[in-house]
Amino acid sequence: MTVTQTTAPVYRNYINGEWKESATGNTISSINPANRHDVVGIVPNSGKEDLDAAVAAATAAAKTWSKMSGPARGQLLYKVANILESRLDEIAETMTREMGKTLPEAKGETARGVALLRYYAGEGSRKIGDVIPATDAAGFMFTVRVPLGVVGVITPWNFPVAIPMWKIAPALIYGNTVVWKPATETAVTAAKLAECFHEAGLPAGVLNLIIGSGSVVGQGIAEHPGIHGITFTGSNGVGKRISQAALARGAKYQLEMGGKNPVIVAKDADLELAVNATISGAFRSTGQKCTATSRVIVEKEIYPAFKEKLLEKTRELKIGDGMEASTWLGPCASESQMETVLSYIRKGQEEGARLLCGGRRLQEGKLADGFFVEPTVFENVTPDMAIFREEIFGPVIALVQAENLEEAIRLANDSVYGLSASIFTRDIGNVLTFFRDMDAGLVRVNEETAGVELQAPFGGMKQSSSHSREQGTAAIEFYTAVKTVYIKG
Ligand code: NAP
Ligand code: MG
Repeated sequence: MTVTQTTAPVYRNYINGEWKESATGNTISSINPANRHDVVGIVPNSGKEDLDAAVAAATAAAKTWSKMSGPARGQLLYKVANILESRLDEIAETMTREMGKTLPEAKGETARGVALLRYYAGEGSRKIGDVIPATDAAGFMFTVRVPLGVVGVITPWNFPVAIPMWKIAPALIYGNTVVWKPATETAVTAAKLAECFHEAGLPAGVLNLIIGSGSVVGQGIAEHPGIHGITFTGSNGVGKRISQAALARGAKYQLEMGGKNPVIVAKDADLELAVNATISGAFRSTGQKCTATSRVIVEKEIYPAFKEKLLEKTRELKIGDGMEASTWLGPCASESQMETVLSYIRKGQEEGARLLCGGRRLQEGKLADGFFVEPTVFENVTPDMAIFREEIFGPVIALVQAENLEEAIRLANDSVYGLSASIFTRDIGNVLTFFRDMDAGLVRVNEETAGVELQAPFGGMKQSSSHSREQGTAAIEFYTAVKTVYIKG
């Protein structure tokens, strides 16, 4: 959307250690989804020429960066962490203004960014290989993890600090240089993160930020012969295109994509806990998390009590501008995201699901200037319906009744996705059955589907990922290649 407001600050690309206008001369306005008249910043709409310059800078910088010691690279990441921490409030406020999540959530996420930088700074001092016994007693054989070269990082708008940090920090610590294309929706937050790296004294060309459209800069990264690895988080449609382009030219790639995450509420569940975790998992960040709860499958004995409590608490949630302390639930991140959510709500009704609460865009008073949708609950949802099958990425719950646990798990697995799944139960037999039979990369007991810990591997099964994992001990797998060294005695 183009809104003209001359006072909005202007941000640039970051190429070879310098802030540069785009060669295209074109710009885009980043706006506040809680108030469309508030322009957060003007950002470049870059083209192929800018991308080429970034790849050239990253290629040149890789020669020295890859030869620097891991601990020395780590020292630089610790500095970036300290700078990000000192700018935490400012960057969190930018995030809330730019994509709408509440300020406490934005602060929590920025703090996570700091923690991720420190975790990967530490990785610079940990092992990067193994010694394997050679058959020849005089021989010596070992593996060493080496960088890929230039890594292309393509990130979404829903976690504009945490996701870039869990990709950029490991890429850098293992000796790669980076060309980063953030979501256009959150480009100002991205520019501020790049400033933290600049202020820390990262050598020129080691991290390059190119702001521009997915179809030009994103696709350009996927196809660029100078980029050796591509890490992507976003939608399945885009992920598929990236994997095809990468495969065609033999580049390494890693995709984290959608989810349709189920919660199972067994008849013996702690009702209060299950309801609170369902609300938090489904509605925090306005349902715009890849791990958000979207299907809630409840054993029939507990269904009426669960439904009543869920509706009572959902109706109490306060919707508004994420900057206001009283707000629990902010707007959808953009107008198009809001339109998508509203179209799924209409489809749910057309397909015969029963709307129990919510379902409307809120336009009273100043809410009319933003993209607010009420938290919404449907029941009588069946597996053939779009709201059961497709990722909505908004504050919408589909309630489903199950005869027993076996049917509940069968329904939970009835999806092309397999990212995160939870069960609420106090029965150890249920827990063990769920672990064994649930096809999801994250399987959780008595806690919500959303949220991850930075030190544990994260990723999905089925169409939720490219079957690789990110974070924790898994990160080294993607960002390095294994070189096996044979030495004859
Ligand atoms: P998206 O539309 O796929 O965009 C993600 C990124 O890809 C953005 O930077 C986008 O740029 C870029 N892009 C768009 N078209 C491209 C193309 N043809 N080639 C290369 N890059 C392209 O997804 P989104 O709407 O931002 O994010 C929501 C999706 O992300 C949901 O499906 C959600 O489940 C998923 N997600 C997954 C995880 C996970 O870890 N599994 C975490 C968070 C979100 P523009 O911004 O310029 O369009
Ligand atoms: Mg915005």
